[in-house]
Amino acid sequence: MSILADSVTGYLGNASWIRRMFEAGGQLKARFGAENVYDFSLGNPDLPAPPAVAEGLRDFAEHAGEPFAFGYMPNGGFPWLREKLAAHLSTEQGVKLTADDVLLSCGAAGGLNAFLRAVLNPGEEMISFAPYFVEYGFYVANHGGTFKAVMSRKDTFAPDLKALEEAISKKTRVVLINSPHNPTGVIYSRKELIALADLLENKSQEYGRPIWLVADEPYRFLAYDGAEVPSVLPLYPYAVAISSFSKNLSLPGERVGYVALSPRLPEKAELMAGLTLTNRILGFVNPPVIGQHIMAKALGSQVDLSVYAARRKAMAEVLREAGYDFQMPAGAFYFFPKAPGGDDVAFVNQLLEERVLAVPGSGFGCPGYFRLAFCVDESVIRNAADGFAKARAAVK
Ligand code: PLP
Repeated sequence: MSILADSVTGYLGNASWIRRMFEAGGQLKARFGAENVYDFSLGNPDLPAPPAVAEGLRDFAEHAGEPFAFGYMPNGGFPWLREKLAAHLSTEQGVKLTADDVLLSCGAAGGLNAFLRAVLNPGEEMISFAPYFVEYGFYVANHGGTFKAVMSRKDTFAPDLKALEEAISKKTRVVLINSPHNPTGVIYSRKELIALADLLENKSQEYGRPIWLVADEPYRFLAYDGAEVPSVLPLYPYAVAISSFSKNLSLPGERVGYVALSPRLPEKAELMAGLTLTNRILGFVNPPVIGQHIMAKALGSQVDLSVYAARRKAMAEVLREAGYDFQMPAGAFYFFPKAPGGDDVAFVNQLLEERVLAVPGSGFGCPGYFRLAFCVDESVIRNAADGFAKARAAVK
């Protein structure tokens, strides 16, 4: 008999694909040397944080000996920082936000959990488009909800609003989108977002309760060739943007993120009170002190995007040359090509034979594809060309 909760025993027995690849990669690296393994399995930003991050740390260090420098604070973060963040996000999102419209969280993951805890009753449902970031299902289950995936449109991975309309029921409390998207790199257009907002307005009316629209957007900063990443906040009163500094500042270990509410939301004060409470009672208590000081200094800075752009180009060349079928990512740092032969798990194993690590689409609720994260030096991409070509050629 397990000492753990049944759900946790189940999760452990069914390790995620990313975890399995991580372990397989460890074995290959021990056997062949890390430089002979081409690891595209993890979305862990490898670029150094911009200089403003170290400056923020140094500034804070000068005050670290003062009383309460590391003290408890309001559960939504330092009020002065919320004000600063609101001004920054007002420009970014194209709406007028105040300190009362933004809450600081422990990363986007902490923000998503605080939000779901605040709005979901047990048995209620969150819908997202597949492929999807696999943690969403766990986050919803944390709060007694159920996660439902609706397949994106075939090949383009645009949101399939017809399928979403059919999937929404009276149990649906939240629809979550992620743009720029992990794992496909797709960016949802303004037209698609307006149509989505219209659909949710209608469905909310039909069921007599608002359905929330959550935009999970930690990759907002990474849009290539000047692509626009439209904000949902002006489009729908029950819209919430959740994000973090994990990717744009290469800061995922420091856990700073935020939840921003649509200024059109009639019950803004009520939601913010709920979020402030859930940020506390989930055990986050408040966002990290050091991370907030870093962020105060680094707001508006970001890692060198030209490096990601060059890698995207290199990866496209390598994949094209080897004969893969893929869509160029418009944003984020992933490719999601079709698995040659159709069986994504078999093909990822084929790549492993060539010491190339990828994650099967099955791990994102979308079999038949595989994900490549380009958080690696361009030389790793170029050096993997041979392995990509051999694995492709091995499948008829
Ligand atoms: N959402 C998506 C789509 C992600 O890819 C990630 C991290 O990889 C997160 C949320 C969580 O990010 P954070 O580090 O801000 O919690």
